[in-house]
Amino acid sequence: MARRKKGQERRIAAERIDVLFQMAEREGHADHLARSDRYVELARKIGMRYNVRLPSEYKRRVCRECHAYLLPPKTARIRIGESRVVTTCLRCGAVMRFPYLREQKMRRRQ
Ligand SMILES: [Zn+2]
Repeated sequence: MARRKKGQERRIAAERIDVLFQMAEREGHADHLARSDRYVELARKIGMRYNVRLPSEYKRRVCRECHAYLLPPKTARIRIGESRVVTTCLRCGAVMRFPYLREQKMRRRQ
């Protein structure tokens, strides 16, 4: 029973994180980047509190160092390498490298 309740809480937490990232994106496109950062911060707090990991597509949207919302080209610069995506946070200069997932999946299929 307790476990079931916890699962429900985590599901709700994941949904709230979804909504917060959607709002962060919308505000970012409207140049309200301070609001985007605030929504991302809330999403991270919810994730920590309910032990919900941010999905990888959202993790790429948050600076590892300063936790700013990364919205290229406004707050981040993105370079596509051979097998990875290199994201530079334009606020603090942190460089993050992510594997290029689409490419990896194609390779696995071959
Ligand atoms: Zn940063």
